[in-house]
Amino acid sequence: MEYRVLGKTNLEVSILSYGASPLGGFYGDMDEKKQIDSVHYAIRSGINFIDTSPYYGLTQSEIILGKALEVIPRDKFIMGTKVGRYGKDNFNFSYNRTIESVNESLKRMRLDYLDIVQVHDIEFSDLNQVVTETLPALIKLKNQGIIKHIGVTGLPLKSIDLLVDSNISPEIECILSYCHHSLNDNSLTSIIPKLKERNIGVINASFLSMGMLTERGPPDWHPASPAIKQKCLEAAEYCKQHGGNISKLALQYTLLNPDIQTHLVGMPCIENVKENLQTLTEPIDEILLQTVLDILSPIHNQTWPSGKFEN
Ligand code: NAD
Repeated sequence: MEYRVLGKTNLEVSILSYGASPLGGFYGDMDEKKQIDSVHYAIRSGINFIDTSPYYGLTQSEIILGKALEVIPRDKFIMGTKVGRYGKDNFNFSYNRTIESVNESLKRMRLDYLDIVQVHDIEFSDLNQVVTETLPALIKLKNQGIIKHIGVTGLPLKSIDLLVDSNISPEIECILSYCHHSLNDNSLTSIIPKLKERNIGVINASFLSMGMLTERGPPDWHPASPAIKQKCLEAAEYCKQHGGNISKLALQYTLLNPDIQTHLVGMPCIENVKENLQTLTEPIDEILLQTVLDILSPIHNQTWPSGKFEN
């Protein structure tokens, strides 16, 4: 497993990391034992960064992680969770709720500190409140040693760009962007030079585009337009017919970018972890890649609205 330094955090994160939103049932209900086994298998295989949120399964993901992690030595994993989002339409970025939320997450996961806490989906916030309340609350927790590093997450790149660009939030050490660095959409590359210049770590989540770049296809709630879903389906079919696999290709494609330190993927079963680990060792099929990029070109960089920002 290759490890990269996550910007100012100085944390050495595995290039493939464990996304725990499926533990909250985002991709269908699963057996809890299988989920816990997948966490253990991932850590045993050298995956050291785990990302979750109180939002995932309305605390379910953190509760399952608590059960999984109690038998793992604390120095074997880097734990990231979030504050600010507590339901599909339930947001609270206030100072007091932020402090409370971190303490609740620690309790649920049976931990005494968190490596990374990120402000979850800033496009739904009043950015001014993030700067004047959420981040100061996180800085207080950081000064107390309860959390080690601070970041922000969001879909619209403009929201991240705005916070990073202004000198009002130098405490941001890493960002998590999702669905913006894969075969169908690589718009994240537009803000990478700025992040690099400021030594802000880059976590690329959902390179399977929240299930769209899988043979199984996206979950019902997926917000992409029918046109985007259709093209991804076509690309998946093409790969299958030519002896390839769209999920494999998506991982190999995203790994080509040396300026992204870790790629987060939801892996609620051991089979997913094994498959993705195997892919890390295999070279990309350049011809298949080019054809798939051509299939996806009509919807290239097309995304969907989220919160108060356009993409
Ligand atoms: P994803 O794109 O990682 O897709 C997950 C789905 O792909 C699951 O159904 C999983 O079973 C399946 N899968 C995984 N490996 C596979 C393989 N090799 N072959 C076939 N199917 C495979 O979507 P995600 O889980 O939503 O995103 C990854 C993680 O990123 C999340 O779990 C979460 O931790 C994080 N994330 C954060 C935000 C945010 O902060 N706003 C948003 C999205 C995702």
